[in-house]
Amino acid sequence: MAKQRMLQFVTVARETPEKRDANVRAQDFNEIYREFAVPKAEEQAGRCSQCGVPYCQSHCPLHNNIPDWLRLTAEGRLQEAYEIAQSTNTFPEICGRICPQDRLCEGNCVIEQSGHGTVTIGSVEKFITDTAWDMGWVKPIRPHVERSESVGIIGAGPGGLAAADFLRRKGVQVTVYDRYDRAGGLMTYGIPGFKLEKDVVMARIKQLEEGGVQFVLNCNVGEDLSFDAIRGKHDAVVIATGVYKTRDLKGPGSGAAGIVRAIDYLIASNRKSFGDEVAEYDSGELNAEGKRVVVIGGGDTAMDCVRTAIRQGAVSVKCLYRRDRANMPGSQREVANAEEEGVEFVWLAAPKGFTASDAVEGVMVQRMRLGAPDATGRQSPELIEGADYIEDADLVIKALGFEPEDIPGLWNVPELEVTRWGTIKADFRTHGTSLPGVYAVGDIVRGASLVVWAIRDGREAAEAILTYLGQPAAAVAAE
Ligand code: FAD
Ligand code: SF4
Ligand code: SF4
Repeated sequence: MAKQRMLQFVTVARETPEKRDANVRAQDFNEIYREFAVPKAEEQAGRCSQCGVPYCQSHCPLHNNIPDWLRLTAEGRLQEAYEIAQSTNTFPEICGRICPQDRLCEGNCVIEQSGHGTVTIGSVEKFITDTAWDMGWVKPIRPHVERSESVGIIGAGPGGLAAADFLRRKGVQVTVYDRYDRAGGLMTYGIPGFKLEKDVVMARIKQLEEGGVQFVLNCNVGEDLSFDAIRGKHDAVVIATGVYKTRDLKGPGSGAAGIVRAIDYLIASNRKSFGDEVAEYDSGELNAEGKRVVVIGGGDTAMDCVRTAIRQGAVSVKCLYRRDRANMPGSQREVANAEEEGVEFVWLAAPKGFTASDAVEGVMVQRMRLGAPDATGRQSPELIEGADYIEDADLVIKALGFEPEDIPGLWNVPELEVTRWGTIKADFRTHGTSLPGVYAVGDIVRGASLVVWAIRDGREAAEAILTYLGQPAAAVAAE
């Protein structure tokens, strides 16, 4: 009888891929996790209990068929595992690396609930897709027919690229416009290489280019090209512009030199990793080397800033957050990684202002305590009187979250409806906006969210666009 490969969770303990030593990894921007070796991936996949009702799958935004690709991995059928993983996910190797699995698939794994430690779903997804790239199983995009209709996509982040991939595979002519000089959105310029190495993202962009997707880069829609011009040129349009307006800090000294926005800081660092000339980095303005760094905020952006500052050679890195560890929005996995690398967290601390002469010298910190829970059940921070102090700083990074830009105003389309938060109003199934033939996906609809949700939106909008376009106006067999 064939050996039972699944249900191994009773005897096999959960293992994640090995992490590089904190002192070593803090010297570079390479990913911190090593790859599973084949036997380890097969062993870990075999821990799955093949649930009849897989909660992992229902809590994955893409509803990935997780139990099937775990079983195929455990059986050594990696190419079939990859085929299933990629059928629902445009970028499985990226999600496997950066999804907050503890809140999504893995956090809802049944064997985790029974105290055995979740199946390492994300690491297996990364493993099978990296293997697929290495083995040449990732096929070029070759539509069976070429259609004459074209779709213009504004924004080359995961939402826009997922839509581009889906539409192009159906033979639609796709043009992606982006204001940056490289595609990928926050996957390229926001998320640091120690979480997501850039060649992983660039390989996908190359695949799209080679598959016939046209990229128009360095094109800021609303400035270099009007939204109307794009609408006039294409049969349908997707808005996938993300959210980039930084929530700001007020208080005395808040305009001092040396107080910078997280997004500027991270873009400069990522550009440096690409080997670009970055004047603000070279001048020291957006470079933490030799500085006492204070990052303000408790989300994933703050975590990426503190860990970047460590790698740039900061003298000290502190993260100020007004609630405590249990109430922070950032992933606990990333907090643990940051602590290992030498970041100090100052919980229950909020900035009141800044001391400065020519440039910032310190943060005026107010100590907080957590009060009674509010209507949402979350404890609100309350001020402790008379406990203020100064935290010395040469570089302060504001990582307090992002808001949408005023797209209808900037693009001169008042008919494009937005919510009271400024995000674009879109149907939650089709992603259609108030303008016929115009769709919106990702952060510009959801507010700051996740790569995996942007991918889902992009795929769903692409499907709705195919319905909107109807039968091909002209279809010719592709070569
Ligand atoms: P974006 O990725 O923001 O892409 C939008 C694109 O539109 C950009 O390339 C921009 O240049 C372009 N654009 C904007 N306006 C215009 C215009 N007028 N003309 C032309 N182009 C324009 N998510 C995770 O799942 N895991 C993580 O670990 C994670 N870490 C993060 C770390 C940081 C520092 C940040 C900021 C975000 C992180 N996120 C993470 C969130 C994730 O990156 C976003 O949710 C996701 O990228 C949103 O995708 P999007 O396609 O909607 O927008
Ligand atoms: Fe989990 Fe994200 Fe992969 Fe879904 S896409 S299975 S949530 S890692
Ligand atoms: Fe396997 Fe866990 Fe999903 Fe159940 S919930 S199918 S055990 S990964």
